[in-house]
Amino acid sequence: MYSGYRFEMIVGCMSAGKSSELIRRIERARLAYLPTIMFRSATDTRSRPDHVESRNGLTSQAIVVETAKDMLKYSSQAIVIGVDECQFFDDSLIDVIHVLLRQKKKVIASGLDLDYRGLPFGCVPQLLTLADRVDKLLAVCRKCGSDFACRTQRVVQSNEQILVGDSQYEARCIHCFEPPSEYQLKLEIPEPQYFAPPITQNVSIV
Ligand SMILES: [Zn+2]
Repeated sequence: MYSGYRFEMIVGCMSAGKSSELIRRIERARLAYLPTIMFRSATDTRSRPDHVESRNGLTSQAIVVETAKDMLKYSSQAIVIGVDECQFFDDSLIDVIHVLLRQKKKVIASGLDLDYRGLPFGCVPQLLTLADRVDKLLAVCRKCGSDFACRTQRVVQSNEQILVGDSQYEARCIHCFEPPSEYQLKLEIPEPQYFAPPITQNVSIV
C-alpha cells in the first residue's frame, strides 16, 4: 500500500530548472516501479506533442490535456502524478488536485509563481497554500548575472497574461526586473528617522 501521497510544488521564474526538477522526481518514482503519469496543458505549445521538455534537454512522455478535469480520465492507474506549467490551468486544477490527494496519489506540480507583471499567476498562489512541500527555484539574471533571478521579464510589448514562448522572456533578479509602468511600485517612501526613540525602556520582567 503506497503511503507517500502528498502534494509538492516546484515554482520560480523562467529558466530556473522547474521542469527538469519535475522530470527528475517523476523519473525517480519510475525507477522504484511506481506507476507515474505526467500532464501538461494544451496551452503550452513549446514542447513537442506528448512530451514535457526542459531547457537542459530532459524529456518525459506526457499527456496533453485541454482542462484540468481531463487529468481524472487518465490518472486512475497512476500513483505519482506530475503536472507541468500549472499556471496554464484555471482554478479547477485546485479541485482536481484535492480529488487526486483523496485518492491517495502523490501530485508534483511545477509552474511560474509570478507573471510578467510580477503578480501572482492564476491558481498557483492557492496551490502553494495547499502544498505539503514547496521548492522555489532561482535562475541566473540575464541582465546582471546574479544567481538569484526570481522574476520573468517580458521583453516584447503585450498585455496578455499568457503569451506562450521563450524568446519573449528572460529571467531577471528583483533589482533588474522592470514591470510595465502601471505595475511599478507607487509606495511613497517616508523620510528616514535617524534619531528614532529607543524601542525598549523600563522593561520589567515579571
Ligand atoms: Zn539582475
